[in-house]
Amino acid sequence: MESLFPVDTIDRMFKPLPSVPDHPALEREVLERWEDEGTFQRLREQNAGGPRFSFIDGPITANGPMGVHHAWGRTLKDVFQRYQAARGHDQRYQNGFDCQGLWVEVEVEKQLGLNSKREIEDYGLAEFAERCKERVAKYVGLIAEQSKRLGMWMDWGNDYLTFSDTNIEYIWRFLKECHRRGWLYKGHRSTQWCPRCGTSLSQHEQAGEENYRELEHPSLYVRFPLGDRPGESLVIWTTTPWTLPANVAAAVKPDAEYGLRDGGWRLASEDGEYDNVVQGEDLVGLEYEGPFDDLPAQEGVTHRVIPWDEVALDEGTGIVHIAPGAGAEDFELSRVHGLPVLAPIDESGRFLPGYGPFEGVSTDGAAKAIVEALDERGLLVEAGTIVHRYPICWRCKTPLLFRVVDDWFISCDELRQPLLDANDEVAWTPPQYKKRMDDWLRNMGDWNISRKRYFGLPLPLYPCDCGELNVIGSRAELEERATGGLEQLQELHRPWIDEIAIRCESCGREARRIPEVGDAWLDAGIVPMSTLGWENPEWIPHGYGTGAARGLTGADLPDHAYWEQWFPADWVSESREQIRLWFYSISVMSMTLAGRLPYRAVLTYERVHDEHGREMHKSTGNAIEANEAFERMGADIVRWQFCAQNPSQNINFGYGPADEVKRRLLKLWLSAGYLVTFGNIGGWEPEWGTRPTSSHALDRWLMARTGELVVEAESAYERYWTPALTTAFEAYIEDLSNWYIRRSRRRFWDGDTDAFLTLWWALVQALRAVAPVLPFLSDHLWRTLVLDGPDSVHLAGWPEEADVDGSLLEEMAEVRRVVELGRQARSQSGIKLRQPLRRLVVQGADGVQEHAGEIAEELSVKEVEFGPVEATELRVKPNLPVLGPKLGKELGAVRSALEAGDFEELEGGHLRVNGHELSPDEVLVERRGKEGWAVAGEDGLTVALDLQLDPELELEGRAREVIHQVNSMRKESGLAITDRIVLTLPPDLLEHEGWIARETLAERVEPGGEVAIEKA
Ligand SMILES: [Zn+2]
Ligand SMILES: [Zn+2]
Repeated sequence: MESLFPVDTIDRMFKPLPSVPDHPALEREVLERWEDEGTFQRLREQNAGGPRFSFIDGPITANGPMGVHHAWGRTLKDVFQRYQAARGHDQRYQNGFDCQGLWVEVEVEKQLGLNSKREIEDYGLAEFAERCKERVAKYVGLIAEQSKRLGMWMDWGNDYLTFSDTNIEYIWRFLKECHRRGWLYKGHRSTQWCPRCGTSLSQHEQAGEENYRELEHPSLYVRFPLGDRPGESLVIWTTTPWTLPANVAAAVKPDAEYGLRDGGWRLASEDGEYDNVVQGEDLVGLEYEGPFDDLPAQEGVTHRVIPWDEVALDEGTGIVHIAPGAGAEDFELSRVHGLPVLAPIDESGRFLPGYGPFEGVSTDGAAKAIVEALDERGLLVEAGTIVHRYPICWRCKTPLLFRVVDDWFISCDELRQPLLDANDEVAWTPPQYKKRMDDWLRNMGDWNISRKRYFGLPLPLYPCDCGELNVIGSRAELEERATGGLEQLQELHRPWIDEIAIRCESCGREARRIPEVGDAWLDAGIVPMSTLGWENPEWIPHGYGTGAARGLTGADLPDHAYWEQWFPADWVSESREQIRLWFYSISVMSMTLAGRLPYRAVLTYERVHDEHGREMHKSTGNAIEANEAFERMGADIVRWQFCAQNPSQNINFGYGPADEVKRRLLKLWLSAGYLVTFGNIGGWEPEWGTRPTSSHALDRWLMARTGELVVEAESAYERYWTPALTTAFEAYIEDLSNWYIRRSRRRFWDGDTDAFLTLWWALVQALRAVAPVLPFLSDHLWRTLVLDGPDSVHLAGWPEEADVDGSLLEEMAEVRRVVELGRQARSQSGIKLRQPLRRLVVQGADGVQEHAGEIAEELSVKEVEFGPVEATELRVKPNLPVLGPKLGKELGAVRSALEAGDFEELEGGHLRVNGHELSPDEVLVERRGKEGWAVAGEDGLTVALDLQLDPELELEGRAREVIHQVNSMRKESGLAITDRIVLTLPPDLLEHEGWIARETLAERVEPGGEVAIEKA
């Protein structure tokens, strides 16, 4: 490009920006620069020793690549940590990985092709544990890379991993404390059981809506013949045929009416005809023949009718078949009524010995044979199918069964009230989630902590034959009390831990550990204690990465003084379902050990759906992988979508919405590009630390508008409400590009340094304000615009304060309303903006008289008058729904007066008519221009354009057309914006020669027939 300026200034100019950003390419470049320049490390050093902001990360499961659904939470975590860093806060930035439990086991089983717990045992627990650890190590690495790509600044490499011995020891300590308080007990209960995973599952794992599916099951009506009443039977309804061989009782509602028809007793309906009708209580105590009395398991069982107030009357027959070994409520009833408990199935859901032909058959597999057997015996009344909502395993999606087993529980009753009281002090965002937490805490049952599995937290419970329950609280205690086997204890996991027996505290005999491992939420729940060094006497450098975590993290184990500094967290953020999972488990564990909740404020968010609002599934083909999203739309665009979303609603995430975001953010890019282009042309260079002092109204306005953005952004970040930030920023960029820059073009052409400095200063502050959300784009533009200041926006801190001149902002907003209405009036008239008009009359905006010149220029009129718009006809009609009830009978008279124009206009759009004063919402007002005028108005502001043209205006209109035409020709012929031309003009336009030449960079104008250009 040929330059207008001396060569020695060129290398000090801004680096040109392409016309559109390539987000992924730009982001990779920024990532590399951060790496090379140690930007994050420098930020941490810069803030070290500053006021603390404590964030505790809820762990991501290191069990697969990161999905876009993870990116929502990870974006929010990064946004608010970046914001706090900009405010000078010292932070920990510790990322967490969840590393053991059913998650990992099930994936490793798939990988190894193992299909049952027996196959795992045949494979070998030590080998199985090694495969689990390999899988975790692989995904720890991958997720860290993906998170970095998202722009997430964490102390990578010093993460916490929940399977470290240190973490496990902290949980042991917690369990010992629970035992000391008498909360730990072994329960013999009916529990939801996954036959594939071979373990019970707990209430909090299973509570989510996603853990139910609509499934089709048999729907059977079955007769139970009554022993003392030949020819009469109870009729029961069931959807689980496999439970019938374990039947021991039938329940009726004592105060409901039952009727006998065709020999069958069932709930009496109002319109039915019956041979006999009795109260439920009259049936209680009757004995009946069970459906499978011939099975060995049924030997000695007497079947009888029991009362139960909870019998559902809206489905089935009002008589419920009770099998205490196969249902939760059934089991509870067995305790009340002393019923025998027949447990029909083993841990893989197959019938046990004692169940004759069904032995070894799965519950589903036996259904057909059971129905056939019932039919043969004449017990089957009706067989069909039903589709109903049924629980499935949260991990492997297998339909659940009920089994009665021994599990270990923590009693939560004593914690309930303290947790509720503490929750009252927590700042929840969105606020309605506080109540959800309350509801969970009120209804939570005891915590089932044991899982009959392999690669998980080994529960340190050593029951002794003497009745003593020994609970080991640390590795040191284990070593002290062990009777042998310590030499092979490579880490606190099965199978190694199982080799060690201990000496009973009470009787001194040998006691062995129970085989169960712990609920994975114990692993994640202990984090606020284990990672911050609670009650750890001495700081151990790199001391956290013990056991299975050795070599995977360099994290320290801090000392108790550190815990005091960083506990509780100022803020935590996870998805809403974590209320019953992580928020619950960290609350219970911290409350138990420290007597306090581990967080002060919470931000939760909902679920990620596809852009059409459907759930994302790999199988449906609408899931988006995180890497694909980063590389196709850009991480900044991913982040912006999440930040713009109200977190109390599901987000519709996808490429369509991403394009919308790109389109809106392009204005930021183009505005920066504008400054770059004209700054380079004008040879203008910013100097770090200079503030604009311009008295130009537009400059002062942009400064105030920027100050307003900063205030809005601060408020949004402080409230943990990103949608307010994205909305404020988009509005700001619109004002900056579509008002300030557009109104200032002439000044930029003329090299006005006030305009340059003001625009530069505004962009620099805006980049700082938005940097937490758009870390890449903001830093790229920062490096483009800031030549001698901090070398990254992330090292530059929060924006400078600016005087938010409220009256100036209001004034300009009013000017923009006048211009907007003026444009409306013009478009109604059909006269192009390029055709100047004589006059605009403005009524109702006297505060903007100073800006008459700008309004005239924007609307291309010669003069702007402030005063009453007489060019309009006002038509007023009553707003009937509002005014009807108010005026009653008088409505007719008022309506006629309005129609006749017989009213007086008052301040603020009020009207006086027939002795009534009407407010603006009580009438419908329409203004029409009189002949030769175009009028537009709203909310008490009216503008009228005089449409009268004269030869002078017409010639000027033509001159503008020509300027437009010539500039298009310049572009088409490939001229640079600074190239000069020779211009040929028709003679009548020579009157405007100077102006046209200036606007088209013509060095010389020659008269001619047609408009033509030539490079000078
Ligand atoms: Zn399962
Ligand atoms: Zn003992």
